[in-house]
Amino acid sequence: MPGGANHDGAGGPGSELGDVAEARLPGGAVLDLHCHSSERSLDSGVRAEVLVAQAVARGLDGVCLTEHNAIWPEADVRALADLYGVSVIRGMEVNTQVGHVLVFGLDRYRPALSDIHRLREAVVSEGGAMVWAHPMRLGDGSPPAWRDVPDLFEAIEVVNGDHSDQVDGYWATLAEELGVGRTAGSDVHSLPAVGRVATGFPEPVPDVETIVRLLKAHRHAPLDFRPGGAHGLPHLAEPPQYTPRERH
Ligand SMILES: [Zn+2]
Ligand SMILES: [Zn+2]
Repeated sequence: MPGGANHDGAGGPGSELGDVAEARLPGGAVLDLHCHSSERSLDSGVRAEVLVAQAVARGLDGVCLTEHNAIWPEADVRALADLYGVSVIRGMEVNTQVGHVLVFGLDRYRPALSDIHRLREAVVSEGGAMVWAHPMRLGDGSPPAWRDVPDLFEAIEVVNGDHSDQVDGYWATLAEELGVGRTAGSDVHSLPAVGRVATGFPEPVPDVETIVRLLKAHRHAPLDFRPGGAHGLPHLAEPPQYTPRERH
């Protein structure tokens, strides 16, 4: 699969995917929240620089590098962001007993974070946010009781690029009923996966502090650019439909 530039968006990897510009709110941003690079995730076949270049070719405003139990140095992601002119935000995908968790706002991995309660404590005390990754995937852990979900996560990844669930499907409905936010992430491990799904925000998302703030406020929506996916965002222009639970 060539990694060269797409001149006008036609041809090349991802050309069968929906148009990101059509889904972006005026003044808003569209980011792929779930990406693995080969430098820090052994199961990924795409280098971070190539991944970010593909995000640019897809028309995304940025990506989050959410490596398995590992995190990029801040200086490295900033250099990538400066080089390509899009947001490159560092997070982690932490393995816990309840499954995989996307974490934003922590500075480093440590083994104690594999306990979901220790992880939550650390994230709350350091002012971060957590997203329950691919809840539809079985076998990564024992899912939490539904009543515990709003205390553990700011959002659920209701659409994952490796699974066929839709933006208004079972997990999206459950997230809404539980009062948590809904995200989508491609779970990138290869070049064509970049931007097949993404999360839309009503304002620019230049850094991790902004993404944490918007995740806590549930000011985001899942977007599915795969054939047949839905990527309209009209409700994001409205105030949130529910009041986020105060738990800090
Ligand atoms: Zn995972
Ligand atoms: Zn992943």
